[in-house]
Amino acid sequence: MRATLMYGAGDVRVETVPDARLIEPTDALLTITHSCICGSDLWPYRKMAPSNTGRRMGHEFIGVVEAVGVNVRTIKRGDLVVAPFVWSDGTCVFCQERLQTSCLHGGAWGGPDVDGGQGEAVRAPRADGTLVALPVGRDDALMPSLLTLSDVMGTGHHAARAAKVGPGRIVAVVGDGAVGLCGVIAARRLGAEQIIMLGRHADRIALAREFGATDIVSERGDEAIERVREITGGLGAHSVLECVGYAESMRTALSIARSGGAVGRVGVPQDEAIPAARETFFKNITISGGPAPTRAYIEELLPDVMEGRILPGRVFDRIIDLDAVPDGYRAMNDREAIKVMIAL
Ligand SMILES: [Zn+2]
Repeated sequence: MRATLMYGAGDVRVETVPDARLIEPTDALLTITHSCICGSDLWPYRKMAPSNTGRRMGHEFIGVVEAVGVNVRTIKRGDLVVAPFVWSDGTCVFCQERLQTSCLHGGAWGGPDVDGGQGEAVRAPRADGTLVALPVGRDDALMPSLLTLSDVMGTGHHAARAAKVGPGRIVAVVGDGAVGLCGVIAARRLGAEQIIMLGRHADRIALAREFGATDIVSERGDEAIERVREITGGLGAHSVLECVGYAESMRTALSIARSGGAVGRVGVPQDEAIPAARETFFKNITISGGPAPTRAYIEELLPDVMEGRILPGRVFDRIIDLDAVPDGYRAMNDREAIKVMIAL
């Protein structure tokens, strides 16, 4: 079968690899129908050290179940399923707390002996705990929005939850990538009164407005902080969604939170330290967040997608086939595309 490998910064190849197959009795074998490139795939695309063996890529996908192991109970052959961006057993102490990203027996797609999602097929470990069957056919028009339940929509929702978004709250979103845009959807869905998007790209701003952003701040750094303070009567936002991961964006997020407010961070931190320790201490600001347990959120968000109340699939502004994946990485890295979907 064919799959995507990264061999170093800027070096993405689609190659022939060993066919995916069942190994454990808890596995399912999937043929992938839809996949995509993640903003987090761009971190290694920018700085991965050269590798002779390459790394299998992709952790957001929908597929058809071709076969299941003898111990698989709920997932069956022929199901169309969405996979969260990590796999998990669904039964351990953390899974029972709906924190599947900390599963004691889980792991990452593309890890040792595990296929990545940017390919023709995968072995899905812990199929019952990991996969969620979708009530649609593979050609359904909702497929792009259903695909976002793998990661970006659940991650935007997680940022909003961590930032304690709710009715009457003033929300600010730092980051105009797919996750930030889904954060806007999540904030509106949870009843935010005002949603301030920090972003500068015209296409992303237009989409943010459609998703429910009420104010746009296109300045950067201290000017952006000043502008948010102006918009919020000098006080700052109750809830801030940090959807980037750089020290600068984290500093902005922390600086625009009002006293007693909360910052939900879902951008993978590119630095060890969290900035503004003293300032946030004296303002009693909650700093929360982490990798989103999207497995837990699929059930919560699925009805809103199925009934068209949210349309997160609009973040996909380019659809490609598997051969074009290297150029898809380039397009996202150059900010030519917000998010690239791979149709197989
Ligand atoms: Zn678990």
